[in-house]
Amino acid sequence: MTDTDQHAAATDPALLDALREHVQGALPATIADLSALVRLPSVSWSAFDPANVRASAEAVADLARSTGVFAADDVRIVRSAFEGTSSDVAEEHADEQLGQPAVLAVRPARNGKPTVMLYAHHDVQPQGDDALWDTPPFEPTLRGDRLYGRGASDDKAGVMTHIASLRALHAQFGDDLDLGVVLFVEGEEEFGSRSFRTFLREQKEHLAADVIVVADSDNWSAEVPSITVSLRGNVTFKLTLTTLEHASHSGMFGGAAPDAMIPMMRLLASLHDDDGSVAVEGLTSYDGPVPERSDEELAADAALLPGVRPVGTGPVLSRMWFQPSITVTGMDVPSVANASNTLLPTVSARVSVRIAPGQSATDAYAAVERHLHAHVPFGARLEISEPDAGDGFLVDTAGWAVQDARTAMREGWGADAVEQGIGGSIPFVSDLAAEFPDAQILVTGVEDPDTRAHSPNESQHLGVLHRAIASETILLARLAAR
Ligand SMILES: [Zn+2]
Repeated sequence: MTDTDQHAAATDPALLDALREHVQGALPATIADLSALVRLPSVSWSAFDPANVRASAEAVADLARSTGVFAADDVRIVRSAFEGTSSDVAEEHADEQLGQPAVLAVRPARNGKPTVMLYAHHDVQPQGDDALWDTPPFEPTLRGDRLYGRGASDDKAGVMTHIASLRALHAQFGDDLDLGVVLFVEGEEEFGSRSFRTFLREQKEHLAADVIVVADSDNWSAEVPSITVSLRGNVTFKLTLTTLEHASHSGMFGGAAPDAMIPMMRLLASLHDDDGSVAVEGLTSYDGPVPERSDEELAADAALLPGVRPVGTGPVLSRMWFQPSITVTGMDVPSVANASNTLLPTVSARVSVRIAPGQSATDAYAAVERHLHAHVPFGARLEISEPDAGDGFLVDTAGWAVQDARTAMREGWGADAVEQGIGGSIPFVSDLAAEFPDAQILVTGVEDPDTRAHSPNESQHLGVLHRAIASETILLARLAAR
């Protein structure tokens, strides 16, 4: 068969119908399994009981075995050390240096077929204030089209999307499946993926894949899917300006001796133009198409007060996805209650820079440093410390995996996918891209605008779950036909 013939085979209407039927028929079991996962309060933060994360890893490993896709020995629970941990840690402390348990299951590819890695995470955010939940956070509750509970969407529905798709694939192809499959379900995404890079290095030979499907993102709406094609990077740092050796009475010296706040205000003001767009030379923007969003919609979504105008220029979504932004997120100054008539000798600010996809965090940080040194007024002493950087991410949308994903989403959702950017960062996606530069990464998800991930009353839209499973199953069938 030629490449095109194989392709046609994967979209054969009879096969599509069969796959859809497997998915639909299994939906009650899928929702029951999702509910069982939600009952496990697998909060990965260090102050919470790790036994719950271990129980949830065991449950996910059982689900992986239940797909029929993996040999029993090829489903493992793995813990890796935090990055930068020395190997001669005393034995009694060794456990504290290990990350939360991940589940790794591998089915090797056969007959020259590609390998796909399916990523999700089984840990969850803390539930926060119980009183803000309408129903108990770890008691899965069905209301209308939605299943409520912490992790019901982020990202236990992502886990179940992979499990249910693999079950449907197994129901259709049985042992004839030649596609290589790596299932990787992380246990500490919500706690900074502290052992992620060690895990990638240690397990590299098992993880190698041609296509990576990350099920941990958003959809345009409950009816329209999204492929996330770009993420912004970010850099944060502490900026300190010092002008005096000690504080002085503002009535004695004010007007001649510069307190540190005058240069700080002027320096921070130099970061933006009058229209509020970023004014740092060397920070780039990405040029890509964006869907329309009006100023009024932005005002409603971001809760702008009446009369407050948006900042920046160009299409609203281009500002949020493809242009840099700079935010001052904290300042060390005396509080208003403690303010005395004093010239402040030193002032510090925390600055957060979102970087356009396509620019490296290192280059962006260098540009911001150059700008600050060039614009600091009155000879104030400038110190930049505590830098923390993460690269953005840009998908090559011409790749064959993205084309397969577009087709599979149309067939699974009955609607064309919106190719969307995300203004925030998913640091592990850039880690994956760095470790596997040749893999095509597809960032998909099961959330919709009403999901409220990380917040009280998080929920999963069950229609979205159904459509996400259908489209992932079809995608895997297409990859298997390559
Ligand atoms: Zn997540």
